[in-house]
Amino acid sequence: HSQETYEWSIEVRKALTQIFKLQEFRSNQLDAINTTLSGNDVFVLMPTGGGKSLCYQLPAVIARGVTKGVTIVVSPLLSLMKDQVSHLLQKGIAAVCFNGSMEQQTRSWAYSELAKNPPPTKLVYVTPELLSKSGQFQNTVRSLHNRKFLARFVIDEAHCVSQWGHDFRPDYKLLGNLKQTYANIPFMALTATANDKVKEDVLHNLNMRGCKVIKQSFNRTNLRYEIVPKSPRNMAQSIYEFVTKGYRNASGIIYCTARKHCEDLALKLRKEFKLRAKHYHAALDPVDRDRVQQEWQDGSVQIIVATIAFGMGIDKADVRFVIHCSLPSSLEGYYQETGRAGRDGSVAMCRLYYSYRDKMTIEYFIDKGDGDWQQKERQRHNLRMMIQFCENLTDCRRQQVLGYFGEKFDAATCNKTCDNCLANAKLSFEYRDITDTTKTILALVRELQVNKVTLIQVVDIFRGTANKFLQSRGISDLVPGIGAGKALSKTDCERIFKHLILKEILAERCETNAQGFVMAYLQVSTQREGICIRKICRY
Ligand code: ADP
Repeated sequence: HSQETYEWSIEVRKALTQIFKLQEFRSNQLDAINTTLSGNDVFVLMPTGGGKSLCYQLPAVIARGVTKGVTIVVSPLLSLMKDQVSHLLQKGIAAVCFNGSMEQQTRSWAYSELAKNPPPTKLVYVTPELLSKSGQFQNTVRSLHNRKFLARFVIDEAHCVSQWGHDFRPDYKLLGNLKQTYANIPFMALTATANDKVKEDVLHNLNMRGCKVIKQSFNRTNLRYEIVPKSPRNMAQSIYEFVTKGYRNASGIIYCTARKHCEDLALKLRKEFKLRAKHYHAALDPVDRDRVQQEWQDGSVQIIVATIAFGMGIDKADVRFVIHCSLPSSLEGYYQETGRAGRDGSVAMCRLYYSYRDKMTIEYFIDKGDGDWQQKERQRHNLRMMIQFCENLTDCRRQQVLGYFGEKFDAATCNKTCDNCLANAKLSFEYRDITDTTKTILALVRELQVNKVTLIQVVDIFRGTANKFLQSRGISDLVPGIGAGKALSKTDCERIFKHLILKEILAERCETNAQGFVMAYLQVSTQREGICIRKICRY
C-alpha cells in the first residue's frame, strides 16, 4: 500500500479539507491514520506542535475499515480535554468529555447517546481514573465493545505512564490492563517525549510492545537556544532588556519553580518595567486562571509568568519566547516547555537562566517528595543530565538534547542557532586530559571530607587561596593537593569539580548545619570509590 490507496483514502482526504479545513497532512500524520484505520496498534512520537490531535481525531470521523464507532481518548488534564471537545464541536464533530465534575443532566444525556445503535458520538474524552474504575463508564465501554461500536483507544500524553518521564501519573499505570481486556481493539498512544527509555517503558506499561512506532526528528529548526548565567537580583532587569531588544510586543512564557516567585516577578515586570505580564499557577482559582490564560491567548497580556502547570494543551501558535528562570528538573521537561515556542514555524527564542545552585533546591524536593528509592534515583539521574547540558559550553545544544533522546544530529547543520555553536564560531576550545588532576582532587577530598567542606571551599583550597580558612578549621596545610590547582582559573576549576560530581565521582551530601542552613558537603562518592578515571574532557 502506498499511503494514498486504502479503501478509506478518499474519505480521509475529504475529512481533512472539509471537516478540519486543512490543505495537506504534515509529516507522519497520514501514516498514523492509515495504521489505526487498518486496525493496528501504533505509537506516535511527535514534537509539541507536530499535530498529534489530528492523528486520532480524523480517523474518529471515518466509518470505514475494520474500525468504526466511538473513539475513547484518555488524557491527563481536564482543561485540555474540555478545550479539545469544544474545538471538535465547532467543527461539527460529536464529542463529549466525561469527568468527575460533570453535571448529572449532561452525564445522563451523554450516556443515552452512547446507548444508541449506532451511537452518534464520535469521540469520548475521559480521565484515566474514570476509565479504570468500575462503574457506569466502564460498563458503557464494555457495552460499546459488545455492540461492535468501540473503534479504538487513544492514550494521549502517553509518557505519563512512565516513571522515567517528567510527568508520571499513577492513574496512567492502570491503563496497562486495557490492552488485555480489549485485545482486538486498536490502540494509539501519543507523546511528545522522545527519550528511548520512556518509549520502551510506555510500550511495556501499555502492553503495546511490537506495535508500529512512528517517530520523526524532534529537531525544532525554528527555535533558538541559549543558556545565560543567572543572577537572581538582576533577573527582572535582564528579562526587561531581552524583551525590549527583540520582543517588544511578542507573546512569551516565563517559567518559574515557585508560585510566589511567579507572583513577585510578574508584579515587578508590571510595576517597575511596565510590561504587560501576569502570573499563572495551580493555586489561582479556576476563574482567574481561565481569565489570565484567555488574556494571554488574545494578546492583551503579553507575558505569562507561570509554573510548569501552565502549558500542557495550550495551543497558541505565535509564542516568540520561552524563558526558564530556574533549572528544569529534566531535559524532557525542558524540551517540552521550550517546545511551546514557535509552533507557527517562525523563529522563536528559548532562554534559560542557569545557576548551579538551583540543583540543591531540586534535590531537596526529590528527597522530600513521594516515590521509592528507585524513582528518586531516576529523578536524580534526570537532574544530572539537565545540569550536564547547562554546564556544557562547547557542544551544540541541539546535538546534546537530540542525542539524549537517541537521535543523531549533525552539529554542522545547527547553523549557529544555539549559543554554543554561535560561541564556537568565535572561540576555540581545547581538549585536556584531566586524569592526573582528578587523582589529585580525589586524594584531597578524601582527606578533607571529615571536616565538612563545601564545593566552593574545596575549590579554593585546591587553588591554594584558602589558607585562612584552613587555619580557622585547624586543617594542616600539608595535606597533599592543597594549591595543586593554582595554575587553573577559578571557573575552570569549578567546572572540573562539577564534572566530577555529575559523573558521580564526587558527591554532595546535604545536611543542616548548626545554624539551621542546609549545606552541601563534598565527598568522594561511595559508589565510585576506587574507579580509575581516564577521561579526556573538554572544559
Ligand atoms: P501537538 O498535540 O502535537 O502539540 P496539535 O495537535 O495541537 O499538536 O497541533 C498543533 C497545531 O498545528 C494546531 O494549531 C493544529 O491546528 C495545527 N495542525 C495540525 N495538523 C496540521 C496540518 N496538517 N496542517 C496545518 N496545520 C496543522
